[in-house]
Amino acid sequence: MGVVIGRDRRYADLTTVEAARVGAGDPIAVVPTGAVEPHGPHLPLATDLLVAEHVAARAVTAAAEAGTDAWLMPALGYTKSDEHAGFPGALWIGAETLFRQVVELGSALRASGFARVLFVNCHGGNSALLEVALRELRRRHDLRTFLYAGRAEPGPTERGMGIHAGWAETSMMLHLHPELVDMAAAEARVPDGVADCRHIGFTGPVRFGWLARDLSDTGVIGDPTGADADTGARLVAGHVDTVSAALAEIAGFDPGAAR
Ligand SMILES: [Zn+2]
Repeated sequence: MGVVIGRDRRYADLTTVEAARVGAGDPIAVVPTGAVEPHGPHLPLATDLLVAEHVAARAVTAAAEAGTDAWLMPALGYTKSDEHAGFPGALWIGAETLFRQVVELGSALRASGFARVLFVNCHGGNSALLEVALRELRRRHDLRTFLYAGRAEPGPTERGMGIHAGWAETSMMLHLHPELVDMAAAEARVPDGVADCRHIGFTGPVRFGWLARDLSDTGVIGDPTGADADTGARLVAGHVDTVSAALAEIAGFDPGAAR
């Protein structure tokens, strides 16, 4: 499902004359952040990238229609997917490289007139690094920096473990790109060894360093078998609504303003 977005909202389509005009205002750069990494036998490698680009594009369009000066940037595609190393298709770069890329991109955005940037991240493996980068960009380049890292809604049979290629992601892809999904190959891999823990978890009080191969022989972490396109449409719309509403808030965000 392609996204129709006005040419004038894709920053990279502008001429340098038009870019100068944009930079003279107080625009927001919206950077979709995905990954190219294994998503099991049933989903494409670019799943996170496709979802991030779609959500960011629709959110920018909606925000711009509501009067927010938001711009869609080209996506970050090769990112920190080292947790999937060893599976074919894991095209990852290291944490140091991605950190440097994000900080240097921030410097370039600042030089082109952007003082606000939002990363719309759909690959969980990037979130911790991006949070660190937000502060680095704030301090080094005086940027107001924001991260959307919408949490995946847990599927009914996933025991809260649906973090990768599971119910939510598969549903969104059935909505956005059904031609790229092979539901006949979809199989559950719910890591009971994590789900049975009381304290240790992906989001609990005690986190752990994990590799996909510790948890799953296929790379799937969750249960995609009950995924459906209607659920996917609802989940995608939820992300778009949140990001577009957040953009309005980001446009006027001033954390020190007197109330
Ligand atoms: Zn993913």
